[in-house]
Parts: sequence; structure tokens; C-alpha cells
Amino acid sequence: MENNRAIVTSLYENKAFQRVSAKTENSLLSQMEEGGYIKLLFCLDKEKPVVRTFTLSEVKKDEFSFEMVKHENLGHASDWRRSVKEGDVFSFKGPGPKSKFNKNSPLIFMAGDRTALPAMIAHSKTINPQKQAHLYFDVEETKELSQDLKAYFPTLENLETYDSLESFKTQLKEHADKSFLWVAGERALAHDLRNLSKEINLFDKYISSYWQKGVSDEQHRSNKVKAK
Ligand SMILES: Cc1cc2nc3c(=O)[nH]c(=O)nc-3n(C[C@H](O)[C@H](O)[C@H](O)COP(=O)(O)OP(=O)(O)OC[C@H]3O[C@@H](n4cnc5c(N)ncnc54)[C@H](O)[C@@H]3O)c2cc1C
Repeated sequence: MENNRAIVTSLYENKAFQRVSAKTENSLLSQMEEGGYIKLLFCLDKEKPVVRTFTLSEVKKDEFSFEMVKHENLGHASDWRRSVKEGDVFSFKGPGPKSKFNKNSPLIFMAGDRTALPAMIAHSKTINPQKQAHLYFDVEETKELSQDLKAYFPTLENLETYDSLESFKTQLKEHADKSFLWVAGERALAHDLRNLSKEINLFDKYISSYWQKGVSDEQHRSNKVKAK
């Protein structure tokens, strides 16, 4: 992937996220899709740039946006988020495509945390509105997000939300052979549901760990490789 550049056009934040909207070349914008990703690049002057992945939450004719979780830990992306201003130029690799999502499966089960919300929303727009969908959402500091969770998925008419991972898993086990399971978020959640997926006979699945508590993304990616 090439190194590309974009310029920040606007910023918006709520309690959970910082939204960054930016302009880039039209030839790149035309390759972007909601639910796809870009890799922000930091420390370009050093031998090895630092890379952090973010999901494209909105792609318009002239700009794109992504949502950065407002986590309080130190990191290259979170440091940048705290200081970014309109007009700043940043480098990125990509865009890359959205993750696998089997919308033909009779039932949909999605599980994730705030980092996965933009991807879950993008996928939800591709599902038949009447399809039965089940959603477990892991919120830590931002309980208000889970209270209004259905509002993020206005197209889904049959959406069941779960506060408890155990009840989500019980439903999933009961309907495994008819279910597509999509999981992304903190490593422990992905690990837990990947273990369960090995014990049951799922229709189809996509499981990805997006970050890991207590370690940088470099360490997280190296842990993922070691675990394979
Ligand atoms: C395909 C893909 C799509 C992604 N999409 C998004 C997205 O749309 N929005 C988004 O915010 N993230 C997204 N992520 C996750 C994001 O890349 C990581 O959270 C990344 O580690 C953040 O980088 P950082 O520099 O802030 O922290 P790092 O330098 O990686 O880590 C520093 C510290 O912060 C902690 N940390 C990292 N992320 C979080 C978090 N979310 N909450 C609490 N603590 C954290 C780490 O455990 C560590 O202790 C995505 C990841 C992947 C693989």
C-alpha cells in the first residue's frame, strides 16, 4: 500500500468518540467504502513508521470520516487525537475493504466494543431490515452508549441487544447452525468467542481482535501472530 495524505476538514466529539472528517485525492476517495479501513501513519521520519487502523464510518463525494474511541491510555493515535486541529495534514495507508459479512445467513450475531461500532453500523446497513439480528456490545466507561444502542442501527427492525455476554452466547449456541457470527474488539472478547465458535457448528463467522488491553498495537499484533 502507498503512503497517502489527507487534510482534516472538521472535528466533532461526544463522550465516547472523536470524529475526524478529512479530504483526500478523488482517486482514493472513490476506492473508500463505509466499513473499510485506513491505517494512520505516525513517526514517518523514523526507520519504521507507526501504524494504527481505523474504520471508515462515512464516505461522501468529497470527504471521509472515521471515529476514534476516546480512551485515556497513552498511544500514538490517542496522542494525535488529543491535539488534532482542522487543517492538519496526516499520512495514511489504504484504503482497505470492509470485513467479511455473510448477510445471507438466516440469523446474524454481532459482538464488539466501541472500536467495532463503526464497522457494525456499516454492515448493519447491508442486512435485510427484517432479518433477526442479535447484538452484544461491551461498554466500559460509557454506559450511556449501551442504553441507546438500537438508535445506532435504525435500519434493523428485529434487533435484540444483550448486556450480558453469557445470554448472548446461550442464544448463539441454540441457533448456531443458522447463524453468522461477526466479532471485533478487545482481544479477550475475540478470544472467548473464537473458543466458543470451535465448539459449535456455526453457519459462518468472522472474528478479529482489534486491540489488546494494556499493550500497544505493535505488541498486540505480535501476540496475534504468535497465537496462530
Ligand atoms: C480493522 C480495525 C479497525 C479498527 N477500527 C477502529 C475504529 O474505527 N475506531 C477506534 O477507535 N479503533 C479502531 N481500531 C482499534 C485501534 O486501531 C486500536 O485501539 C489502537 O491500538 C489505538 O491506538 P493508540 O495509539 O491509541 O494506542 P496503542 O499505542 O495501540 O496502545 C496504548 C495503550 O492504549 C490502550 N488502548 C488501545 N486502544 C484502546 C481502546 N480502544 N480503549 C482503551 N484502551 C485502548 C492499549 O491497551 C495500550 O495500553 C481498529 C482496529 C482494527 C484492526
